Amino acid sequence: MAKMLSYQQARQKVIEIAGAQARALSPEQIELAAGLGRVLAERICADRDYPPFDRSTRDGFAVRTEDVCAPGAALERIGEIKAGDAFAGAVGPGQCVEIMTGAAVPPGADAVVMIEQTRRENDRVVIERAAQRGQDIVARGTEAKAGQALLEPGTRLNYAELALAAQVGRSRFNVFQRPRVAVLSTGDEVVAVEAAPGPFQIRNSNAVSLAAQAALAGAEPVPLGNAPDRKPDLRALIERGLAADILVLSGGVSMGKYDLVEDVLRELGAEFYFDAVAIRPGRPAVFGECGGKLVFGLPGNPVSTMVTFELLAAPAIDLLGGTAARPLPFFKAKLAAGVKQKAALAHFLPAQVSWPGDAPPEETPLVRELRWQGSGDIVALAAANCFLVVGPEKLEYTAGEWVDVMPRRGFF
Ligand code: AMP
Ligand code: MG
Repeated sequence: MAKMLSYQQARQKVIEIAGAQARALSPEQIELAAGLGRVLAERICADRDYPPFDRSTRDGFAVRTEDVCAPGAALERIGEIKAGDAFAGAVGPGQCVEIMTGAAVPPGADAVVMIEQTRRENDRVVIERAAQRGQDIVARGTEAKAGQALLEPGTRLNYAELALAAQVGRSRFNVFQRPRVAVLSTGDEVVAVEAAPGPFQIRNSNAVSLAAQAALAGAEPVPLGNAPDRKPDLRALIERGLAADILVLSGGVSMGKYDLVEDVLRELGAEFYFDAVAIRPGRPAVFGECGGKLVFGLPGNPVSTMVTFELLAAPAIDLLGGTAARPLPFFKAKLAAGVKQKAALAHFLPAQVSWPGDAPPEETPLVRELRWQGSGDIVALAAANCFLVVGPEKLEYTAGEWVDVMPRRGFF
């Protein structure tokens, strides 16, 4: 039943199935300080106008434009206002008030002239340039009106969103519960990180990377350890994993005699949407539903596991978490050296992108494939800040050509 899809088709399939599954998750109330990365389950509105008053954006003088329609007007200074102050009185003809950034523009004034464009002459303030109405003032309610919706349910909270919630006084609010992602590695050769591996055994790095990736993507990882390549044990652990919202397995999905994951899932009634993706690394990736839960069977080679998680499992976490799937953050960079691949697959190659001179706005990003030994090479991936993406049609590029780059999550 091999169903091989391009990674774009496979990802789209995940988005379709996870989107259809994204039933109303139960919200929970949290403190503002715990909000980073969470998804809002309610609307946050402006509690008052923003700014709440006509706000000066400069240190200078609040004036009446009719007094300063030509350079050189000499005005009487009737007082000063600093941020937080209320000014008793109004600016009359021929008058001005000294004002600080963030203070409320007093009644009567309709412009602020920055201090650099003024000078003191005896007891007068000379305004050296003509002023326009509204200059250097942000008028009340121009950022937001009282009651206006500022953040909608489904918004993932980052620093600016948290600042906005803080601004409008929301120290607590409702967010969706994070989807629980059960992480189960498989393989008789895999031992716990704390264990002393035998000469041909390997430590369980996939359980660690998958839990970290799940957390970075916004899920609550549920570590289930490692399943041996024996059906009864594997089946028992998979059944436990199916109690979570999403089950992610690593290993056991290739064509080997001991690759049992698909078999066991099928015995448990799984329906598969694909079981191969036209990428390298990561080709044998499997996605299906089992007992109403999403299941990803990712290949065991560590770089394959990591790449397929990012491409395929991460959007399911967004959708089950109550928000839209974030797009893959591709950008273009110039190749520092030629690249050549043979298989007609999309390749995700560990690479380093940099901006010569460290000046991103002016410089062209340059990307260089790192030397690596294939999909088991975590050493190379840990030295990479991105994947260089080539293929499946065009596989040979020369230095200086533009290529696609996918940054590693959180690196830029
Ligand atoms: P598999 O997909 O089960 O054939 O696994 C492919 C290779 O990935 C294995 O031979 C191991 O070298 C490696 N591998 C599998 N599981 C893990 C794991 N949990 N942690 C690190 N490497 C793994
Ligand atoms: Mg295996």
